[in-house]
Formats: sequence, C-alpha cells, structure tokens
Amino acid sequence: MTTKSHVTAVYPGTFDPITNGHADLVERASRLFGRTVVAVAAGSSKRSIFSHEERVALARTVLADLPSVEVCGFDGLLVDYARDRGAQVILRGLRAVSDFEYEFQLASMNRRLCPSLETLFMMPAERYTYLSASLVREIASLGGDVSEFVHSSVLAALQACKACKKS
Ligand code: ADP
Repeated sequence: MTTKSHVTAVYPGTFDPITNGHADLVERASRLFGRTVVAVAAGSSKRSIFSHEERVALARTVLADLPSVEVCGFDGLLVDYARDRGAQVILRGLRAVSDFEYEFQLASMNRRLCPSLETLFMMPAERYTYLSASLVREIASLGGDVSEFVHSSVLAALQACKACKKS
C-alpha cells in the first residue's frame, strides 16, 4: 500500500461542465495527494452556460466516490483561496503543447503572487487529450452525442439546459 502525502492540492477551473478529462485528472491526483480540492471559479473571463451552483453540484456528483476529494466554489484570487485552504500545490492539466503558453503565464504569475505555492501539471489519459469543456458545449448545443466525454449526470444536465441549445 502506498502512503499518501500530507500535501493539499487545489485544482482550479471553470468546469463548465466537468468532463471525463477533468475527472481523470482528479482521480490521478487523489492517488498522490492527501487532499484534493476541486475549486470551481465563480466568475471568470469565460461566459459559462451553467451557473456557479450548477457547476459545483455537477462536479460533486461526478467526483462523489473519491473520499479525499472536496469540491468547493470560490471567488476572488486563486492564490488567496489556496492559502486559505492550507494548500501547497496548484494543480493544472496539460493536454497538448497549445495549453502550455497560457499555463506557463498563469503559473509564473501565481508564483510571483505567492512564491510558496507550487504549480504542478498532470496529463490525462491519452483519450482525453483532445477533450475540452468548450468542445463538449459546442457539440451538445448542435445536438451531437457527448455521452463518451461526460458523466451521465452531466449529459442529463446538458440535455435539460435550454441555454445550451443553439437557436
Ligand atoms: P477548459 O479548459 O476545458 O474550459 P477549465 O477551465 O475548467 O476547462 O480547466 C481547468 C483545468 O483543467 C485546466 O488546467 C485545463 O487545462 C484542465 N483540463 C481541461 N480539460 C482537460 C482534459 N481533458 N484533460 C486534462 N486536463 C484538462
């Protein structure tokens, strides 16, 4: 049996909605960190189709089987939130080289704002490297089948979401 570290990792994002790629990353993190806090950002530059409460609720449902994982909503500066939660690590996912530039900028800025927090990157299973919440939203809005990419509860929410349909 492996002993898990006492490290707390915060995994921030919009999760609009949570996909199997996000869930894969959280599952991997839960095997490494004592506690993984999935931090669902309230406001962001991105306009979300699901409300903050809905995004938190969906992530809670999808990740309910992972005991060391907590899903919380947060507002404000990520480094402040991570510090408040006693986290040592900010976790982010890297899918392809195209993610790198933005993630590099973000990690560098967060290090500048809070030097004691370490940003760690993890890669999802290969089959999720091309998966993004924005593509899921786009496909679902056009009536495409996204059942392979999201949990059944997310699929149901997408099907029920009027705002998600393209008029
Ligand atoms: P997205 O980039 O899909 O809109 P978020 O803003 O919620 O999603 O992203 C939160 C974090 O999850 C980011 O670090 C992002 O790179 C990562 N991520 C998103 N989709 C995946 C995936 N399919 N596999 C691994 N990491 C992912």
